[in-house]
Amino acid sequence: MRSETVRRTSYCRLCASSCGVLLDIEDGRIRDVLGDAQHPISGGYTCPKGRRGADLTHGPGRLTTSMRRTADGRHEPIAVPLAVADIATRLRRIVDEHGPDAVALFCGTQQNFAALTPPSARAWFRGTGSHKLFSTMTIDQSAKWVVAERMGTYLGGRQRFADADVWLLIGTNPVVSGNGGDGDGAVVQNPATTLRRARERGLTLIVVDPRRTETAALADIHLAPRPGTDAVMLAGLLHVILAEGLHDPAFCERHAAGLPALRAAVGGVTPAVVERICDVPAQDVRAAARVFGKGNRGMATSGTGLCMGPHSNVAEHLVAALNVVCGRYLREGERADDRAVLTRHVPARAEVAAPARAYERGFRSRVGGVRAIRGELPSGILADEILEPGPDRVRALVVSGGNPATALPDRSKALRALRSLDLLVCVDPYMSDTARLAHHIIAPTTMYERADHTAIMESFFPSRFAQFTSSVVTPPAGVVDDWRFFFDLAAASGQPFKFAGRILDPSSPPTSTELLAVMTERGRLPFDELVSAEHGRLVGDSGTVVAPPTPEAAGRRLELMPDDVRAELEDALQPSPVAGDFPFRLVVRRIREAVNSTGIRVPGLVPGGGNPARVHPDDLERLGVADGAQVVLRSASGSLRVTARADHTLARGAVSMTHCFGGVDGDAAGVNVNNLTGTLDGVQTINAMPTLSAVPVAIVPATEEEDS
Ligand code: SF4
Repeated sequence: MRSETVRRTSYCRLCASSCGVLLDIEDGRIRDVLGDAQHPISGGYTCPKGRRGADLTHGPGRLTTSMRRTADGRHEPIAVPLAVADIATRLRRIVDEHGPDAVALFCGTQQNFAALTPPSARAWFRGTGSHKLFSTMTIDQSAKWVVAERMGTYLGGRQRFADADVWLLIGTNPVVSGNGGDGDGAVVQNPATTLRRARERGLTLIVVDPRRTETAALADIHLAPRPGTDAVMLAGLLHVILAEGLHDPAFCERHAAGLPALRAAVGGVTPAVVERICDVPAQDVRAAARVFGKGNRGMATSGTGLCMGPHSNVAEHLVAALNVVCGRYLREGERADDRAVLTRHVPARAEVAAPARAYERGFRSRVGGVRAIRGELPSGILADEILEPGPDRVRALVVSGGNPATALPDRSKALRALRSLDLLVCVDPYMSDTARLAHHIIAPTTMYERADHTAIMESFFPSRFAQFTSSVVTPPAGVVDDWRFFFDLAAASGQPFKFAGRILDPSSPPTSTELLAVMTERGRLPFDELVSAEHGRLVGDSGTVVAPPTPEAAGRRLELMPDDVRAELEDALQPSPVAGDFPFRLVVRRIREAVNSTGIRVPGLVPGGGNPARVHPDDLERLGVADGAQVVLRSASGSLRVTARADHTLARGAVSMTHCFGGVDGDAAGVNVNNLTGTLDGVQTINAMPTLSAVPVAIVPATEEEDS
């Protein structure tokens, strides 16, 4: 007999969109995930992976108990308290012998969607005294940090998508990824509908991407530059805007320095030069620049396609420069960009935080002398931090909500490094690649098994909004909330655990809800009101405006073209030296069905289940390769056998694949792109970011490769 179905309200925590959902629960298990039509932000929208929330919670790959590796390499169940005690003992031994910098923490993307996990993981990490903090930020987004450090930041807020009349997206495909930029609240929720409605109200959408992506298909103007030439394209757009006087001289005069240097640096990057380097018609470059420059409101925002590509730091700098020279920021007296509900409201001021270049003073790694940026060492050097002999080499790594085995560049080096650790601890609800290599796997609660709120996601919402959810299904007995693992590990290690400014008593653990309440103490919505708002709460505009600058801000300016950025632009304008051997460029590709490696193992979720190399049909024909045939991709760093698929949306000369597929034991469908990337390829200064998109590759029919 069918038991009663209970419907509960919650929100999805697989990506920043945080869509409202209704869960039909039967016998304590989620049967269906439906969009919550009453949700003020998502309005009933969900994506394919969100709708498979039941499989992510109860599916066959879900770990329902923590595991430890035995001497013969198998994994066996272990109770969490025993695992914590063993991990604490082993960490203590490593620190006693080699010092705190032998311990590292790697924070993955999924960590960010649980409000309590990032502060708790960092609270434990601070107590270790180590400097070896890594995250996925330095795999796909650290150019944005570099820009803020070298250009500075305008503190008045950005113009918003809601009232924009022009928007430029470069290297990002929000219709698929749900992320239109860098936390700017641009295009995150229900992206295709949001973009269509914006165009209906008059917004002109410009998309720059070597592929006619799902987002580009909605654009008014699509520029498809040769992969890896984003910096040149952006310099060309700036050239036209400055040459034709389409910039905002008043904003530049008041808030920017280096306009003449920027003008000089892009002076030679005419539309004809862009056409030669980027393979985009000069008139299209000119037309896009004019549309963007003549728009009244709207920004340029970028994503991983740009941040993982060659010359990413200067390319990202030029995105910011486009916004600055066009004055796409809120002015004194304008309605302030304020989405803080649970977090502390930071008043907007019409002033600049000067470029700090704090990385010049950060902790220095012995690997290449690379310094920490914003408290983190770049993930591009993590494998070398483990493998390079030395007194403070990383011997113990704790991974939280991430999968470095699939995400780090140079796959074989990354696996060698992870296998060589004295202690690898992986906090993951699934048997990921990294978990398979771990000495301890801590199985945490999944999203619908834990209480949570949207504090960390506020900047991604288009309106001032917050939501709380309680745990809506009972977790398996053998799992633990991520935050609680870090709290218990700190307690077992005798370390203080500082959370939201207070040291917690290790003998008296709080509940998740108590900690969530503590996090909101400096917000503007009382916690009990948040908890009682079943579908979340829109918090009305209190009428704040951008305040005038403080006297001490006088003279602070955004640096448009410092010398090191100019040198990087000159470098980006040089022809690629390896074009002959590797005529194709392998670019990143997001898919709706997975967020990095989350989702790739859910049966039937990813169409076809694999990760083919998509190539323009003309290129396949020229190579004599049939659609669906096996090919070998070769790069300077490695090779990969993969199925080739014809794809009309790609520019000729481009190949696209999705990162984070593949399994160390051949258990997961698809292949891992990082077999083709290297830690030394096109490495950027400051953030040690190697080239992970627009990677030069050759395509060889598999039979020829095998014969040779
Ligand atoms: S877009 Fe999809 S994965 Fe992201 S929150 Fe919404 S349903 Fe979940």
